Amino acid sequence: MAPESIVDHRARAALEFCWGDGERYLATYQLLRDSCPCADCKALRAAGRGGDAVDVQLADIQPVGAYGVQFVFSDGHDRGIFPWGFLKELLEEDVQSAVTP
Ligand SMILES: [Zn+2]
Repeated sequence: MAPESIVDHRARAALEFCWGDGERYLATYQLLRDSCPCADCKALRAAGRGGDAVDVQLADIQPVGAYGVQFVFSDGHDRGIFPWGFLKELLEEDVQSAVTP
C-alpha cells in the first residue's frame, strides 16, 4: 500500500513516510541506499561488499505506478525500485526509523 505522504527532510538526510494507519517512519538516505533491493546490490551484499557508499544523498524520487518508488542516489545508482510493501517492512524492522509522536 502506498504511503499517504512522503516528506523529504534534506537537513536530516532522511525521508519521512506516513501511512494511513498513523504509522510514521524516518528513513535515512543511507538506510535506503544500503537496503537497495536491485539485483546488483543484493549480489554485492551477499558477497559482503555492500554499504560502500557513504554520505549518500537522494538525487531524485520517481514514482513507479502504484507499485512503489524508485530512488536515484547521489552516487549515481538509480536501479533500486522499492515496492511499498518492501519499504514498509524494512522500516518496521528498523527500530530507529519509527517516529514517536
Ligand atoms: Zn541497487
